[in-house]
Amino acid sequence: MKVGFIGLGIMGKPMASHLIKKGYETYLFDLNTDAVNELKAIGGHACISNKEVAENSDVIITMLPAGKHVSFVLFSETGIASNCRPGTVIIDMSSVKPEESIEFASKLKAYDVHLIDAPVSGGEPMAVEGTLSIMAGGDEAHFNTILPLFEVMGERIVHMGPTGTGSATKLANQILVSTHLAALAEATVYASKAGIDLNKLYEAIGTGLAGSAVMDAKIQRIIDRDFEPGGKIETNFKDLGNIQASANTLGVPLPVTNLVKEIFGSEIANGNGGKDHSYIIDFFEKMANHQVSGK
Ligand code: NAD
Repeated sequence: MKVGFIGLGIMGKPMASHLIKKGYETYLFDLNTDAVNELKAIGGHACISNKEVAENSDVIITMLPAGKHVSFVLFSETGIASNCRPGTVIIDMSSVKPEESIEFASKLKAYDVHLIDAPVSGGEPMAVEGTLSIMAGGDEAHFNTILPLFEVMGERIVHMGPTGTGSATKLANQILVSTHLAALAEATVYASKAGIDLNKLYEAIGTGLAGSAVMDAKIQRIIDRDFEPGGKIETNFKDLGNIQASANTLGVPLPVTNLVKEIFGSEIANGNGGKDHSYIIDFFEKMANHQVSGK
């Protein structure tokens, strides 16, 4: 199986590297040629366009920032849809709206091309380890054909149902990640201003009911003030916009999530969109006039 991979950023680069190391013939493209060349050095094929990826691959993975980028890569003149072979399976692992996944799949049908929406959870560390959670929507027979690829990149892989259900599951995941990040920030600012050492806070409550994967992944970054992006504030804000739009369509009010969205938006307005999403602690620190750690 020849695999195309488009979008070699924080997530895509380590994911593609696992496929290359596993021995898959992998055709790569990103606007960032440094990322392409890094993977060429470990055995991938460097392509100069999405078209070249499309012409050479049986299955094509996209791992792009948002729906508009996926739409461009799929449907522009030099995009995948009009340049790949009929029968190609496209796996969109980007986080997009379920409505977008359904629209992409329906437009691809005209080219006899199939879509699996398969976003991921676990962030950069699990992408690097090859232990991502993968939530997939689309035809089950196509899912089963590409399952071996998922097993190289992920550990927990669930077929959720028809097209769009992978993307909807990811948005539910992002409701939880975003609100947990805000709750973690609020709790750590409170505890720190009350004179509590945050390492001890984690030791005391990290394995109790208040503990979470978000706390495990982010509290050390907060203590170390290491806000190099794993997941960026601007990427998380995009997800929150998608959640709001999708929930509006369904008639689901999200009072907590939408409040948190405004906090992320405030950080972007202050020029912090490229920082790790745990940096929303900045919002809570400024409100409390208290920085939780001094580094
Ligand atoms: P990123 O910005 O680091 O990478 C995106 C890559 O896409 C970049 O390298 C960019 O050059 C490339 N790209 C953009 N437009 C392109 C085009 N037209 N043709 C070719 N390449 C193009 O983003 P990321 O953090 O890797 O996230 C990718 C997706 O995964 C997003 O949808 C995000 O929501 C989702 N996601 C991210 C995380 C995380 O923690 N970073 C976790 C889970 C899911």
